[in-house]
Amino acid sequence: MSYQILASVCQHPIRASSSLPYSGSNLDFDVRYCPSCSASRSVRQERDTTEQRYRQDRDLQELFPESDRTTARESRREYDRSRLAYQEDLDYQQDRQDRERRAAGRPTMREEGRQFAGLDDPEYLDFRRQMNGYGRTTRIAEPEPERHRSESQYRDQREYLRTSRRYEPGRYADRSGSGYYDTSDPYRRR
Ligand SMILES: [Zn+2]
Repeated sequence: MSYQILASVCQHPIRASSSLPYSGSNLDFDVRYCPSCSASRSVRQERDTTEQRYRQDRDLQELFPESDRTTARESRREYDRSRLAYQEDLDYQQDRQDRERRAAGRPTMREEGRQFAGLDDPEYLDFRRQMNGYGRTTRIAEPEPERHRSESQYRDQREYLRTSRRYEPGRYADRSGSGYYDTSDPYRRR
């Protein structure tokens, strides 16, 4: 009789054995992660470490802008490299999970999500299609007609100068003669 022994935390298979570990179950409590999960963990750790170093070097560079940039540039490169490796590892983990679930005859997380949302149910899709057009109206705003003065009515720049003899007070200009509005009493009619 052969047992499949699993890592105790990630619960991935790590070996086949004719006897169970001392736990009495398939779980080997001396091994927390399978080789693949261990690798993923160190990839993530590497990213965290390089990110920290990158931030420190960047802050130093900002404090002492005249100092040599080689270190800051190098740690930035390291950080970028490890971030990429981390992203690739996430993709790999996702892919691995999909394969495991398919092998076990279960849908992937993504497929399960689609099923849950009813996105694969033709009846529901039909209903959605009908609802999409329901109660929808299109409203187009009439553009306001633009109002321009005719070319001949444009005022000469100099007419805006109060000291000019040709000055003509505009619609909102003060006509009291004082040259300004007294706004101390908001209720007084002007
Ligand atoms: Zn694992």
